[in-house]
Amino acid sequence: MVRALVLDDGDQPRFAELSEDDLKDRLPDGEVTVRVEASTLNYKDGMVVKGLGKLVKQYPHVPGIDFAGEVVDSQHPGYSPGDRVICTGWGVGERYWGGFADTARVKGDWLVPLPENLTPWRAMALGTAGLTAMLAVMKLEDHGMHPDQAEPVLVTGAAGGVGSIATSVLSGLGYEVAALTGRAEVHDYLRGLGASQIVDRSELAEGKAKPLETQRWGACVDAVGGSILARVLSQLVYGGSVASVGLAGGAELNTTVMPFLLRGVNLLGIDSVMCPYARRVTAWKRLSHEMSMRTLDELSHEIGLSEVPEEAGRILQGQVRGRTVIDPTR
Ligand code: NAP
Repeated sequence: MVRALVLDDGDQPRFAELSEDDLKDRLPDGEVTVRVEASTLNYKDGMVVKGLGKLVKQYPHVPGIDFAGEVVDSQHPGYSPGDRVICTGWGVGERYWGGFADTARVKGDWLVPLPENLTPWRAMALGTAGLTAMLAVMKLEDHGMHPDQAEPVLVTGAAGGVGSIATSVLSGLGYEVAALTGRAEVHDYLRGLGASQIVDRSELAEGKAKPLETQRWGACVDAVGGSILARVLSQLVYGGSVASVGLAGGAELNTTVMPFLLRGVNLLGIDSVMCPYARRVTAWKRLSHEMSMRTLDELSHEIGLSEVPEEAGRILQGQVRGRTVIDPTR
């Protein structure tokens, strides 16, 4: 039997023991069965668990967009029983049953091998949030971001999952990091992650962005979107780039083309879900070397599967600090 968190359309989440037949019926034609050793809670999981955004089309559903664990059965040439793997994205936990269970079955092509120096727990402390933060850093580097630049890199939604890992990785790589947050109580936490400047959210959220404002940011990892992203675009240095990662503050973008035409700035899209295999492997390898494991442990906390429904509400309200690892056995 497989223990899982199960969602029914419109009802409260429930915990269920699913049979192998249930799994066969509802998981995709699987090539690899994984004993889930750890999962994690991302913002998108919060939306799925709370039934928001029409992300799930078919119920009953097992959420959980990320998991890491040990292969127990494989028809994929790349994996054998005993291998440790990570799964993020590809619609797992949205279109397909996901990782909020003690067993998951997915296509082998969706997996990446667990890097040598990561445990499943730490891989999930990173999770989609960490992968996305690293993909943003890589794309900004591809577009000229360099530690020698004079202006700081702004990270918005800094105390959230993506923001915390982006702040820590960028600071570790030698960048001056400015962390934008709406929460006064996380300032010390953000300084601990390596931010040298704290920017209060209200500073960028209030007032209407002018087409061009004083050039403040050498680059930006933006987890927030909306009016703050519009403001960031008008404050980027000449030739600077913003990696658009998220929409915690809104999906709309009301701006002008002036920053693009007169300052040559770049608005870069980041997608972790369909990101190609080779780039994923590079990002995970870099995370395993460039993220401080001590900091990762400090910014992460663990909950049991039974605590997920409550924590899902908290992440949607912007109340979760750092990363949440889920132990599927409790
Ligand atoms: P998270 O842990 O909830 O962090 C989001 C942070 O955004 C919050 O901690 C808060 O930071 C800030 N925030 C919340 N509400 C806000 C508001 N109304 N206005 C401005 N800022 C607000 O979520 P996450 O897992 O880091 O994900 C962040 C975003 O990235 C989400 O929108 C998520 O869907 C998206 N995402 C996209 C990808 C991709 O592939 N593109 C992958 C992962 C995540 P402060 O308290 O510090 O202000």
